Amino acid sequence: MTITDRIIQSIRDVPDFPKPGIIFKDITPLLKDVQLSSDITQALKQHWENYRIDAIVGIESRGFIWGNSLAQAMKIPFIPVRKKGKLPAETFAHSYDLEYGSAEVEIHADAFEGQMNVLIHDDLLATGGTAVAAAELVKRAGGKVAGFSFLVELSFLNGAETLKKYKEEIHSLVSF
Ligand code: AMP
Repeated sequence: MTITDRIIQSIRDVPDFPKPGIIFKDITPLLKDVQLSSDITQALKQHWENYRIDAIVGIESRGFIWGNSLAQAMKIPFIPVRKKGKLPAETFAHSYDLEYGSAEVEIHADAFEGQMNVLIHDDLLATGGTAVAAAELVKRAGGKVAGFSFLVELSFLNGAETLKKYKEEIHSLVSF
């Protein structure tokens, strides 16, 4: 079975979470399957080792999981983008609109050394708002967006269209 089929089989759909009408794609069953979790890291590595990537930015909090595993596998630094108020040293911040209200994310001001080519990773791409915020932070901190990596893409929400203006290299292991 392909890695795509194995992820599809393992993901748990939770209807009406965190609010009515949303089908939440729960990736926690993937984490219980040690072989699958490790194969996901290898599949991501196999794709991205063909590009020049100097660092991986993972988006809090599920972007930390395979973002850091991938960074370890590729032997490059991992940098967290976190919700406002969590990073202790000097930061750059970016706020963005959500369906209801707004959110703010931060990156450490000294995240990158020189102009690094940065891969932005999260578990899931929906509208693209979160990944755009991460891309803005990467630019603010002096990095160059080299691509976007997701486990899952909800393609009917057209998030990839929004991300293309930063970089065309957008990769997901599964697309719904
Ligand atoms: P967006 O900014 O709309 O692309 O939303 C992406 C962020 O929200 C990611 O960090 C996802 O983990 C989370 N997210 C959005 N929709 C879902 C969903 N249906 N299932 C799981 N996570 C989601």
